[in-house]
Amino acid sequence: MLGADTVTALARALARGSPGITALFGRGNGTSQRLYLSLHATGRHVILEVEPQQEEAGHDLPGLGYTWGTRIARASSTSELYAQLLQALQVLTGFESCTLLGHDNDGRDPHLEQQGIPIESFPCTVDRSARVPLMLIDGQAKPAELVGSPGSLPDLSGCPLCLPPPKLRDWLSGRQARAALILDLYEATPGRSLVVCRDRQPRHLAPPLRHLLLQLTQVATLRRALLHEKQQTQHRYRLLHERNTRLQRLAYTDPLTQVANRHRIEQVLETELAAASRNGSPLAVLLFDVDRFKSINDAYGHEVGDRVLHRVAQEAQSHLRNSDYLGRWGGEEFIAVVPGCDLTQAQELAWRVCRALAQSPIEPVGQVTASFGVAACQSGDSCRRLVRRADLAMYRAKRAGRACVRTPEIGA
Ligand code: GH3
Ligand code: MG
Ligand code: MG
Repeated sequence: MLGADTVTALARALARGSPGITALFGRGNGTSQRLYLSLHATGRHVILEVEPQQEEAGHDLPGLGYTWGTRIARASSTSELYAQLLQALQVLTGFESCTLLGHDNDGRDPHLEQQGIPIESFPCTVDRSARVPLMLIDGQAKPAELVGSPGSLPDLSGCPLCLPPPKLRDWLSGRQARAALILDLYEATPGRSLVVCRDRQPRHLAPPLRHLLLQLTQVATLRRALLHEKQQTQHRYRLLHERNTRLQRLAYTDPLTQVANRHRIEQVLETELAAASRNGSPLAVLLFDVDRFKSINDAYGHEVGDRVLHRVAQEAQSHLRNSDYLGRWGGEEFIAVVPGCDLTQAQELAWRVCRALAQSPIEPVGQVTASFGVAACQSGDSCRRLVRRADLAMYRAKRAGRACVRTPEIGA
């Protein structure tokens, strides 16, 4: 039927992995017709599909492929991606409608629908994974006979002109579609969602255009996988970040009083002291110790003692600025690191906290007081020396009768 030259050309195309060839065939009346022969090797068979090959006037296919391919590959969200793909298909096929087809359960994507991406539901899975574009030229035409098929039917799933599966055909005829182009967005599950371009008139798309549309669909599929992966990565990163923040909070916080623990406040003091020496800015610390705390524990028990510590910390915190730091130094002893405060300002602050504590009774204990030692950073200070001066000042406050504020002795 084909002639030796065509068979040789087909064999060469098959060896090159080409999807088909164009050949001129004489009509017997002196004229000839240009036909496209698609090739599909399956097992020991080679299936040929023959269709007319019109010249697509004005179609610069590589250029169009490049333009649309770039737009699709640059889409920054799934909805933009599908919008671009559907627009490309609409423009390039000239068909009446191009929609996404998803299955009732897992194909529907409310997010896409909200974005105005037309998505229609299809009642059951398409029983054929359409890795090639399926072309229905005229749903009302009689199907062509399979010519020259010896024995049982070979696998026809790679043949674009083969009739679409019955359910898909019913779905199309239910929508008065006579022509259709069906492209599989082969995602994780083949056949899960399809792009269907349909028209009420018989239509034919030349194979090179079909190949281009398939390529665009493949670009869209890859882009979607990439966007999905990106989303997953961002999600994982967010989770990791949240967990890290939580862990860090745990590692830095004293569980009983919810202020910084000793480890954290030492770090802070180190950093602030370095900054203060570098900038020549003032820095002070307030070290305070709850008065006669042992007797509170003895009289009311450890649990009440714990509550008292929590309240004392909260009260002190409420008098500090956001740029100040409060930490539990140990037992019933706390330290406030106050950048930007000189000795006088820190002393005033200490007195405010001291009076506020004394004036806020804590149930069931009643009045709870603390003694404050205040020290300001001097040139060449180390953290140890600074805290040591505050500690000595705090003992001066204890010796002075408690519930008061003291600074280091001159020369200390
Ligand atoms: P002073 O006015 O001289 O500071 O007397 P004080 O009783 O407060 O000092 P002392 O050092 O004699 O007692 C401190 C008590 O604080 C002893 C200890 O059991 C108690 N304490 C330390 N840490 C905690 C804690 O986390 N919870 C409770 N409930 N008690 C604690
Ligand atoms: Mg004490
Ligand atoms: Mg103490």
